[in-house]
Amino acid sequence: MTEHESEPEPAATFADLLLRQELLDALSGLGYEEPTPIQRAAIPPVLEGRDLVGQAATGTGKTAAFALPILQRITRHGQGVKPKALVLAPTRELAVQVSEAMHRYGHQLGTRVLPIYGGQPIGRQLKALERGVDVVIATPGRALDHISRGTLSLGELSMVVLDEADEMLDMGFAEDIEAIFQDIPEQRQTMLFSATMPPRISGMVQHYLTEPVRIELGRAASQKNEPSLVRQAAYVVPRGHKPAALGRMLDAESPTAAIVFCRTREEVDQLTETLNGRGYRAEPLHGGMNQQQRDRVVERLRSATADLVVATDVAARGLDIEQLTHVVNYNVPSAPEAYVHRIGRVGRAGREGTAITLAEPREHRMLKTIERVTGQQIPVRKLPTIADVRAQRLEQTRGALWESLQDSDGLDRFRAVVEPLAEEFDVVEVALAAVKLAHEAAGTVTDEEEIPEVTSWPPADARRGRKDGPGGRERKGRAVGRGMTRLFVGVGRTAGVRPQDLVGAIAGESRLRGRDIGAIDIADRFSLVDVPEGAADDVISALKGTTIKGRKTTIRRERFQSR
Ligand code: AMP
Repeated sequence: MTEHESEPEPAATFADLLLRQELLDALSGLGYEEPTPIQRAAIPPVLEGRDLVGQAATGTGKTAAFALPILQRITRHGQGVKPKALVLAPTRELAVQVSEAMHRYGHQLGTRVLPIYGGQPIGRQLKALERGVDVVIATPGRALDHISRGTLSLGELSMVVLDEADEMLDMGFAEDIEAIFQDIPEQRQTMLFSATMPPRISGMVQHYLTEPVRIELGRAASQKNEPSLVRQAAYVVPRGHKPAALGRMLDAESPTAAIVFCRTREEVDQLTETLNGRGYRAEPLHGGMNQQQRDRVVERLRSATADLVVATDVAARGLDIEQLTHVVNYNVPSAPEAYVHRIGRVGRAGREGTAITLAEPREHRMLKTIERVTGQQIPVRKLPTIADVRAQRLEQTRGALWESLQDSDGLDRFRAVVEPLAEEFDVVEVALAAVKLAHEAAGTVTDEEEIPEVTSWPPADARRGRKDGPGGRERKGRAVGRGMTRLFVGVGRTAGVRPQDLVGAIAGESRLRGRDIGAIDIADRFSLVDVPEGAADDVISALKGTTIKGRKTTIRRERFQSR
């Protein structure tokens, strides 16, 4: 049986997972319609108190998979002083994201959530810790700082999460994690999430977890290697540029009818509004609408009154619209199965179609998982440029005119317009003016927004601990790359500093990700690290006052930078 002949099983709802009402209310307030596969698999065992290992990348909904059961299981929200749960995350960026998610899910319960990372005035963290917090989300370096100052006490922890464990190991945090765990009670529940499961992660699991439940996304899927009539492609786009990228892509593809998948109701409503503002005819479709409203939207698409439907998975289930030519994933779907179901909307009954996925740079691993599970390649393409779109639109206009000239019946009545003008102007000029009017009347406004190209993707040096990447090699006297600034860090080889220590400290404490960091040179008494110019000040202030390899260190711009 092929995938598109079967509809998915009716999925468990958040309520079926036995979450408390306050959490259910928060989720429906956020427009989450149903749990993602990792949430469905992880929440019940964690609620029962089991340890858990989840192989899941960003984009799967893994944060809520641990955050919701933590919020449900910790007691006396807002009352104690010492934290009950600790989440360790490799970067400041992720720590902030997890904190925001925890805060949104837990605010009705009165949960106090505190992110701890470098670069933020430590005073604010100290005050919050003194007042009392329920959940701490920390980068390992900063957590250790607080533990050694005696300002973070882990004695009452009952739940611990290692998030993106493979990233933490790659960044050289193994020893810090080891030291942190010495302060955590033996009696606890531990969860570990990792996109990959190399042997070092298995070692960590053995060391810190007890008889864990194991969840691997995508294992059960059986759609492998089915030939697909659907043309598939992905574009990698930074988050802030997604609406413009979607518009650009729609202009280039000019779908007859398309469905654009979003994650939540809020996202559906927002994107519909944005698209309409940009001149597309888009309609929202989500679980918050009644049947009559939904039927009306589908009818509009069928009758070509609308060109786009922006939908959640739940609302689009079972939809069969013959006119559909394109499926667009506004985000990478939360599981390979969801991807297969979505693209099945255009692959139906032997019809051909196009499936396009917009992925954020962080989501490349999920895209790889989908490729692995479906056995089909999703080529990453370069977003068409404004010039490409313009050229394509001119080509469309030319094609339309050609067709019109093939069938010249009905053209005669326009002689009364052309002939008098031809006496005054050159015929080609008259034609040019007519084409201009027709061209302008046909199109939407082409976006002028500059969308940065994500050039090296997946980033060649995304994996740290790299032997041959810029971080692993020592290069003396080399020039600073374009757009980069060299920083001086006052610790070096004699302090036992390795490239991954510097990458770990910078990515852990500042907004930079490891992959953004350029070349690293380690001398005996100092190190030189290249970072993007725009991030240099942030990195300097984030690392002021922190320790690297247990030493307080100077950090400043390197004075002599060769270009
Ligand atoms: P994560 O994989 O945890 O980084 O989550 C990816 C994104 O999915 C985040 O923006 C979440 O807010 C969103 N998300 C998580 N769970 C759900 C859900 N059940 N329904 C819709 N969106 C979700």
